[in-house]
Amino acid sequence: MGKRLKKIALLGIIVVAVVLGPSHSSYASVKYIAGCPSSTDGKHHMTGRSTCWAKNINTNETRTGQGGQCRYCHMLIVTENNLFLNPYQGMGWYTTRSAWADVENNFTMEVNSFSTNSNYLDSVGRQFAWE
Ligand SMILES: [Zn+2]
Repeated sequence: MGKRLKKIALLGIIVVAVVLGPSHSSYASVKYIAGCPSSTDGKHHMTGRSTCWAKNINTNETRTGQGGQCRYCHMLIVTENNLFLNPYQGMGWYTTRSAWADVENNFTMEVNSFSTNSNYLDSVGRQFAWE
């Protein structure tokens, strides 16, 4: 193998490791989501914010998903699956963060991690109403 080929092969291995690494480790974490502090029924009532982006500041990984925002406490979310179209499914990967005010469609937010949700009725899934 030539020097140039070796370099390319090594680069390929590094790229694969970087692509696989963060997504696998972040899928292992399950995040606790507190109920909404401002709504009357304790659920976050999410308004769709169209396609949005979440950047993991620890890994620089950016994921594209369905954005949403709570109309009461302004919490932001980006999810893999679109629960505004079908609320009877898990979110897939998701990530949240707090916000002070209403934001526009197509926002990008910076986060520390991604979590995963596979059931709209579990302890995380039932904290949300998708409207
Ligand atoms: Zn809320």
